[in-house]
Amino acid sequence: AIPAALAAAGSHLIKCGILVTRGHALETLARVNHVVFDKTGTLTQGKPVVVDVIALADVPAAQCDVLAASLEQASEHPLAAAFKGRVSAPDLLAVQMARNHPGQGVSGEAGGQCYTLGNQAFSSASHGVAVEDYATRYPSATLVWLCDAMRPLAVFVLEDPLRGDAVQAVATLKARGIDVSILSGDNETTVRHVGNALGVSNLHWQQKPQDKLAALQAIQRAGAIVAMVGDGINDAPVLAGAQVSFAMGAGTAVANQSSDIVLLSNRLGDVAQALETGRATLSVMR
Ligand code: ADP
Ligand code: MG
Repeated sequence: AIPAALAAAGSHLIKCGILVTRGHALETLARVNHVVFDKTGTLTQGKPVVVDVIALADVPAAQCDVLAASLEQASEHPLAAAFKGRVSAPDLLAVQMARNHPGQGVSGEAGGQCYTLGNQAFSSASHGVAVEDYATRYPSATLVWLCDAMRPLAVFVLEDPLRGDAVQAVATLKARGIDVSILSGDNETTVRHVGNALGVSNLHWQQKPQDKLAALQAIQRAGAIVAMVGDGINDAPVLAGAQVSFAMGAGTAVANQSSDIVLLSNRLGDVAQALETGRATLSVMR
């Protein structure tokens, strides 16, 4: 009866657009009492748009656009698409030493100059460049700095709205007594803004992939059985560390491979649906 119940649960879930790739996950779902969400591409739509470019030096904004898009050429981060969409392919510059810094940004050399493109901590640290704090001016935005080896050249202001069902999905989980946390590599102001909108106060910001894993492990040490919901490359370690993991279906192949369950329809409400099915299945098995 046990394998039959699990098989029935799996086929029920797939009809709802919830693909269970690892069978053991079904048994764990019933015990989950804490759901941890990644922010970008998970709670948000993952289609950020550049809404403002503030040139900070003598390099015109249009040239900053070209540099940013060129540096992002090899990146599959959702932010990269926003930059690449602003420049036509023939205008892109050749980039040497292109590097992806997970949860921080990208760097490379173009025209004999070194550039970084990423969050405030990364930009400050990478070249010892002092970047100003624009977060209070743009509390809902993701801010990305373009710097050369000497100075910041521009700050890009990107908006990535919450998914339409995010508020409802979080409210449903909380109503069922499940704790909710948010883990993000983004800055404090933006993460707090999302937390306020969703009624979530367990917030972790400026988290690199390994920091996300450490934060998850701290939640687990406090006794929680955690479901992690993520999307991107930067989530692979933390997805692997959770008792059960969900990946958004539109996320990267890497995230899908490191998750137990894929939300094929990108509906956040399907997390609560899966937990509910897990509980119902367990009660049949007992
Ligand atoms: P989240 O945890 O919210 O999903 P990430 O960990 O993917 O976000 O990224 C954290 C931050 O690092 C982003 O908000 C951005 O500032 C910076 N960043 C990461 N990847 C890139 C990139 N390819 N280009 C520019 N900035 C990036
Ligand atoms: Mg993400």
